Amino acid sequence: MKKIGVLTSGGDAPGMNAAIRAVVRKAIYHDVEVYGVKYGYQGLMEGNIEKMDLGSVGDIIQRGGTILATARSDEFKTDDGQHQAIEQMKKLGIEGLVVIGGDGSFRGAQKLSAKGFPCIGVPGTIDNDIPGTDFTIGFDTSLNTVLEAIDKVRDTATSHERTYIIETMGRDAGDLALWAGLAGGAESIIIPETTEEFSDICNRLERGRERGKKHSIIVLAEGVGNGFEYGERIKEETNLETRVTVLGYIQRGGTPTAQDRVLASRLGARAVELLLDGKANRMVGIKNNDLVDHEIDTILSEKHFINKEMYNLSKELSI
Ligand code: ATP
Repeated sequence: MKKIGVLTSGGDAPGMNAAIRAVVRKAIYHDVEVYGVKYGYQGLMEGNIEKMDLGSVGDIIQRGGTILATARSDEFKTDDGQHQAIEQMKKLGIEGLVVIGGDGSFRGAQKLSAKGFPCIGVPGTIDNDIPGTDFTIGFDTSLNTVLEAIDKVRDTATSHERTYIIETMGRDAGDLALWAGLAGGAESIIIPETTEEFSDICNRLERGRERGKKHSIIVLAEGVGNGFEYGERIKEETNLETRVTVLGYIQRGGTPTAQDRVLASRLGARAVELLLDGKANRMVGIKNNDLVDHEIDTILSEKHFINKEMYNLSKELSI
């Protein structure tokens, strides 16, 4: 394989740039040309593709977002869209593609691989919701952003003696809320993967009030519901004043942490190795700090689970 392409797709995540850098530098190290695709699969279909060199990825390892930009494309989900994308790559002599993104992006990679065009997936999403890897690129940075927010809200929660609800991103996954809640000492962590009775949450708040607790912090994952509605319900049930902070898109930005940069560098480089080894339709990941790779079909058929031990511990520590 003498020419490969790389694109970012779906939602952006801090560390995607470090992954792009690793793909480009690793490929060039092996005398392979690299082409960067702008705007994900949409740009691929439109031929928005440029040759990259060592300099194209200079000074980006520390930047959030993605220099290749990302997009969502419904047209690419069609057979015609996928054939068009393959034609664009063939025109330039590109023989393999690294796709950095989430599970939706891997479905695209799966479709291209099935049509004979080898793709390797690199998990990049703040949600940490991809099976087959302990961590996804961007999760650690986002987690630290959420934690900083919890610490700040805690200052004002103590001063005003109120109950604060902090709503995190994560789509249908509770990892961000769980990790940030445990690290931030939250009283309650409400995530989609578990079912705690609403009355239990209220009872815990009331027990805290009875023993003179000045404030409470609840971390709520967006996949469970709306923070403001939860606030209203708590007020109705307990008469406790609540304030809600929806963290929103700040969770997707910022300088990637060391953890994310190292992960992105390792996964990006391994993706290139797999393409050069003639592999296709696989996703790279990390398990117990070792690099692994799995068939994309397997990844897409599995479910992501949260760490139950961590969830139980968070409850034990917030009695
Ligand atoms: P995030 O988790 O951050 O949302 P994602 O990769 O899951 O990232 P999606 O919007 O689901 O984001 O997918 C990104 C793109 O991948 C889509 O816009 C589409 O172009 C392509 N894609 C998604 N599903 C399919 C599919 N079934 N077949 C072909 N392509 C797909």
